[in-house]
Amino acid sequence: MPRTHHAAREAAMSIETAIGLETGQPYPYQQAALVEPDWARFPGWKDVTSAEWESAQWQRAHCVKSVKQLRELFGGLIDESFYADLERDQAERATMSMLVPPQMMNTMVPHAVPTTDALLADPVRHYMLPVFSDRRTDWSSHPHATRDSLHEHDMWAAEGLTHRYPTKVLAELLPTCPQYCGHCTRMDLVGNSTPQIEKLKFVAKPTDRLDAMLDYLRRTPQVRDVVVSGGDVANMPIARLEDFLTRLLEIENIRDIRLATKALMGLPQHWLQDEVRDGIARVAAIARSRGVSLAIHTHVNHANSVTPLVADATRAMFEAGVRDVRNQGVLLNGVNADPNALLDLCFRLLDGAGIMPYYFYMCDMIPFSEHWRISVADAQRLQHHIMGYLPGFATPRIVCDVPFVGKRWVHQVSSYDVERGISYWTKNYRTSIESTDAEALTRTYEYYDPIHTLPETGQAWWREHGGLDEVHLKAAEMAEASRRTAMLQAH
Ligand code: SF4
Repeated sequence: MPRTHHAAREAAMSIETAIGLETGQPYPYQQAALVEPDWARFPGWKDVTSAEWESAQWQRAHCVKSVKQLRELFGGLIDESFYADLERDQAERATMSMLVPPQMMNTMVPHAVPTTDALLADPVRHYMLPVFSDRRTDWSSHPHATRDSLHEHDMWAAEGLTHRYPTKVLAELLPTCPQYCGHCTRMDLVGNSTPQIEKLKFVAKPTDRLDAMLDYLRRTPQVRDVVVSGGDVANMPIARLEDFLTRLLEIENIRDIRLATKALMGLPQHWLQDEVRDGIARVAAIARSRGVSLAIHTHVNHANSVTPLVADATRAMFEAGVRDVRNQGVLLNGVNADPNALLDLCFRLLDGAGIMPYYFYMCDMIPFSEHWRISVADAQRLQHHIMGYLPGFATPRIVCDVPFVGKRWVHQVSSYDVERGISYWTKNYRTSIESTDAEALTRTYEYYDPIHTLPETGQAWWREHGGLDEVHLKAAEMAEASRRTAMLQAH
């Protein structure tokens, strides 16, 4: 790899080397008090007051959306080489546009005046502000990477409503978030277009789309569980979210509702607003009276992100009547792919904020994600290393979301060619597009490890058989995007 900081980060994140023995245990548990980092260390925010910081409006108005804004925020602290690296990534690799709320920005290099090296090494920066030199130059995309790697759109029962599992659906209410993560698995649809990725757009009017989702749920009694997502529900005005949830709660078969919001961490100020707390409290009261479980699922990838404001927002949601708040993180090299980092995060969530560690997903096979992804074998080792420290109910499962299968615990792999990095998986239900497929439950489905993690013989095999170089990959993606757009417009 071209940059020395890259090699240093990879070594630091090695699963086998990350374990110390100071306490006689591989993982030295210590309770850590939550601290809100001092935002005044950023020259651009040196005069920002606590009242401004705690205002959701101020946070939204001061999100970092461009290299120019980042330069102004850091003053002269960061070398020009960093901005050039970031600009090149935006032009040639990024699948998500830049959008970082101050709250998240403030968790980068949290307790020191930022320097270029510290910023490059920072775990939150690594996935929220990816730079070109982070990415692999050998295989930046896996030959089997695709824009909609989980084929969610193929399983839409109504526009934005994915019916993939027998009893549960995913409702994508809107295609935006208060923050954009570099590795977003819904990069096909979520956020603004980038030079590399022209985003798909919903075709129907938002109110018609939501009505169509509710219609489908009314006439599909086998669905009992709805993940209300996006995007991020924090970007839907609370009155509209409350209206949708209230109508959802009128459907007798719905027993579980989970609201997906990374903003509980990225913009906790949103969930602390009076009108938002009141809206959620009204919905939670209806849910309770009908015996429906209302929970929040958030997405926190690093312990540094769990600050007092995140704990306050979580507490506010519990006080509003939400039954549980659970975390679904993503395993990312350079961010959290070592046992100590995962356990630090889980304990910070559980002890500090009352958030239940629930899942860690392997990063999906989207374009340009190879530098973040880890192999199934490494995911299995991570699961092994984190067992036994947390209460059983709070020990997260590490899962692989296998295309056309769904979430599988990483030890459920059916067979595994470690040389070529191809794992084979089976399943016990049909997705909505397989109702007439006689072999859906007997065939195996493939998932692919990052090629750079394979032994040399495996890498040589892919060089010979990988077939799709980046130009072909891009052409295939554009063709796929056009096909989908055409399908949507024909609806
Ligand atoms: S918050 Fe979730 S949906 Fe939004 S960009 Fe991040 S990963 Fe994607």
